[in-house]
Amino acid sequence: MESKQYIDQCEEYILHTYNRFQIVLEKGNGVYLYDVNGKEYLDFAAGIAVFALGYNDKEYNDALKGQIDKLIHTSNLFYNVPAAKASKKLAEASGLSKVFFTNSGTEAIEGAIKVARKYAYNKDGKTDHEIIAMNHSFHGRSLGALSVTGNTKYQEPFKPLIGGIKFADFNDLESVKAQINEKTCAIIMETVQGEGGLYPVEPEFLKGVKALCEENDILLILDEIQCGMGRTGYQFAWQEYGVEPDVMTCAKALGCGVPVGAFVLNEKTAKASLVAGDHGTTYGGNPFACAAVDKVLDIFEERKILHHVKEISEYLEKKLDELVEKSECLSMRRGKGLMQGLVVKDGVKPGDIVNKALDNGLIVITAGSNVVRMVPPLVITKEHVDEMIEKLQNCL
Ligand SMILES: *Cc1c(COP(=O)(O)O)cnc(C)c1O
Repeated sequence: MESKQYIDQCEEYILHTYNRFQIVLEKGNGVYLYDVNGKEYLDFAAGIAVFALGYNDKEYNDALKGQIDKLIHTSNLFYNVPAAKASKKLAEASGLSKVFFTNSGTEAIEGAIKVARKYAYNKDGKTDHEIIAMNHSFHGRSLGALSVTGNTKYQEPFKPLIGGIKFADFNDLESVKAQINEKTCAIIMETVQGEGGLYPVEPEFLKGVKALCEENDILLILDEIQCGMGRTGYQFAWQEYGVEPDVMTCAKALGCGVPVGAFVLNEKTAKASLVAGDHGTTYGGNPFACAAVDKVLDIFEERKILHHVKEISEYLEKKLDELVEKSECLSMRRGKGLMQGLVVKDGVKPGDIVNKALDNGLIVITAGSNVVRMVPPLVITKEHVDEMIEKLQNCL
């Protein structure tokens, strides 16, 4: 079949909730993707910050193949070997203590919200607790996660959402303080806002929020779904600031392509929130998904991925800064590590740049209304950065 026929077939049978790029991807190798016509693309999007290790990694693929031949699914009525390994590694990598595996990021957020409500309920037996979330945040599309997503366009048609959510401004401590009252049970935010436009948290803000949480026995929920798993050069972005969340959510690169997420609790929160019967999932934490998590975390250590990200992102930042300097359509670079945004000048559409890049064999995506976003595989090299810059230059 031709590319056009696949596209027509998808449009005929798949509900149109995405305006997709007009290409059909067939295979991947390293940091390159290939469409059904054999055209090559340098991938600086990694399936939206998912494919951290690059495509077709032999060690990763072999681990998954091996697990397929052993056992794919058991349900959570039983223990399984990969879950035992993966949960220990995730707890150790985060310094937190208890893991609940989900199938996606949005489900990890749902779990975190339930943890916060149960923690507060256990204290006072009340059922009117509030959560403070941030404007311009993104936490997912299911109703609970959408309720804490500070984007009215996404929310409006689906109201009423879950109650008890208040919004404050990211990096504005006073605006958070103004929303706190005796009902507040949690504050939720991304450590680096992704979809909202690549805004890193300011250290003083994060420390201030943590202090407010401690003073008032409020849980701090950090959404590390996009910025976690090495993307900023730390296993989890908050580790750079030395501010530990009570609950952390992760997904995206956690399984590097296998759908898996998690919410992870510190000791205090684990002891005083969800108990047997409070939460569940059929697929979550199944042997196949956990084999992926287990292998991904192994490879992070073996190949010193964090060290590599720190080095390569310095180079990427320098090259992007030079590009911004020279370009007539870019105003600034913003982001952290391998999570970078190029802010376009007024009147420039980031979508136009992204489409031209695609024609030039480069995959980048947008964020917010005026940002070209790059969240490449963590294994990119200087040569890949140079190639990206060359291709992007042609589009500006
Ligand atoms: C992608 C994302 C989510 C939602 O994850 P899904 O797996 O798409 O449900 C939540 N939070 C952040 C920060 C994300 O980037």
